[in-house]
Amino acid sequence: MPTKKGVYAKSVYKEPGPIRTDEDPFHSMMERFNIAADILELESGFYDYLCKPTHIHITSNPVVMDDGNVKVFEGFRVIHNDVLGPSKGGIRYAPDVNLSEVKALAAWMTWKCAVVNVPFGGAKGGVTCNPRKMSPGELERLTRRYTSGLMEVFGPEKDIPAPDMNTNEQIMAWILDTYAMHARHTNTAIVTGKPIALGGSRGRVEATGRGVMTTTLAAMERIGMKPFTSTVAVQGFGNVGSIAAKLLREQGCKVVAVSDVSGGYYNADGLDIIKMIEYSRANGFSLDGYRDADLISNDELLTLDVDVLVPAAKEDQITVKNAHDIKAKIIAEGANGPTSPEADDILNEKGTLVVPDILANAGGVTVSYFEWVQDRHGYFWTLDRVNRRLDFMMREAFDTVYDTAEKHDVSLRIGAYVLAVDKVASALRLRGIYA
Ligand code: NAD
Repeated sequence: MPTKKGVYAKSVYKEPGPIRTDEDPFHSMMERFNIAADILELESGFYDYLCKPTHIHITSNPVVMDDGNVKVFEGFRVIHNDVLGPSKGGIRYAPDVNLSEVKALAAWMTWKCAVVNVPFGGAKGGVTCNPRKMSPGELERLTRRYTSGLMEVFGPEKDIPAPDMNTNEQIMAWILDTYAMHARHTNTAIVTGKPIALGGSRGRVEATGRGVMTTTLAAMERIGMKPFTSTVAVQGFGNVGSIAAKLLREQGCKVVAVSDVSGGYYNADGLDIIKMIEYSRANGFSLDGYRDADLISNDELLTLDVDVLVPAAKEDQITVKNAHDIKAKIIAEGANGPTSPEADDILNEKGTLVVPDILANAGGVTVSYFEWVQDRHGYFWTLDRVNRRLDFMMREAFDTVYDTAEKHDVSLRIGAYVLAVDKVASALRLRGIYA
């Protein structure tokens, strides 16, 4: 649903915060929030309340490295909002983690939970480190130190972490254990995305990729595309990208290109995704050296002549530099923030249907919610039950976003923001402002 260009007056509200560059993720979030706030005619006090994080925690995490030296890592936990329920959001380990990114990711969690109707607020955490250069022991000590520094912040009824880039089930297990040691009892609902043996949910690992698949099919239906005649390119071959590629393939799509940090892999007749997943797993989660495909660059992948493009790697991959050259009819955003606001305008004008991140990749938090519910009940669901409920919620969210976008004659992204901001603002009005 392309927008009409220039249909919005520029926001009357002030830009919050000092950081503002074209590729600043918090700025990207605010650009969309401002448009939604304008459409909703949000009161200025509520505007300030909803765009600012309620709490920002910055921690210094000393770790004894394997060589005996002490190294200090900076950690963040941002609670953007808890109006709808306890805050929820992943923890990211990467060398370029910074406060602006974590603030944006926390806000996206608030809007994402509201879009899929999950009773959580939004949060995000991160540690500036290079996990690829750290041993398992160093990662464990870092995780335990970071967790113990946030004991008063985390809690099953307060703020619930989950995995994100470069964090996984094992790291969630260390968070659970550290929290339990301090709290003097085990409560498995403290963290989601943990191993099934520790109270994890069936289907959680595949949930984000599955949601990308469900919303892509829903988008295809709306514009009369059929999976069996559609080609797909996926950027990023980690948890989200590889599972989305596998499930879209199972639905009949021809996945002609995938990529990871090592580069892009292309086969016009369709790639063998299962074989590539096995190869990547056996090769330290890298496709480097994979032979049964032509090598292309990541930039080439984004502008291939395909029907569906799934950016599932990181922020700001589709920008003014390449948006004009994108040929896909549908972009399903597996990653958070892969498209810059400036690129949005170009894509809208071209008529590209963008299924926005806060909808397309919300499958992960939806099954995290199921996991939290199961932990609290002490009763665990079958995979079939998890998947059926996930498909239902993703489908319902897609339809609601689509209808909202149609009602306001805006893109699906702005439709999703309008829906989410309205839901959180309405809850805030009901709760009132505590004096
Ligand atoms: P991951 O660490 O499992 O995988 C990331 C993948 O992207 C890897 O294959 C990596 O090689 C690749 N990559 C990194 N930089 C790249 C580049 N410049 N070009 C091409 N490929 C590149 O991470 P993930 O969990 O799959 O997360 C990917 C994105 O999805 C992130 O934006 C994350 O915030 C978002 N997301 C993840 C989940 C989840 O449940 N895992 C949920 C919602 C959103």
